[in-house]
Amino acid sequence: MAHVVTEPCIGCRNTACVEVCPAECFHIDEQSLWIDPEECIDCKACVPECPVDAIFLDVDVPEKWTHFIKLNEEKAEALPLIFERKEPLS
Ligand code: SF4
Repeated sequence: MAHVVTEPCIGCRNTACVEVCPAECFHIDEQSLWIDPEECIDCKACVPECPVDAIFLDVDVPEKWTHFIKLNEEKAEALPLIFERKEPLS
């Protein structure tokens, strides 16, 4: 299992989650963050940090966003890691 970033992150990209992650899971693009499922240890530290409730355990992802499970895997593989907080988009 792993945690998954979903739709509400797009255009927000708060990045508070990045600072609490002990496993360096987060990758970034211009609009959103993505979690590498190979690295996530399901500690849940990032979940309460997200102001838009975008992060779910994969088995708990709302049905309308289940395609984000695969998207996180693909995006994390292709995009750079982020280790420090950045200015949110909104
Ligand atoms: Fe990182 Fe823990 Fe969130 Fe996984 S659940 S992305 S290990 S903070």
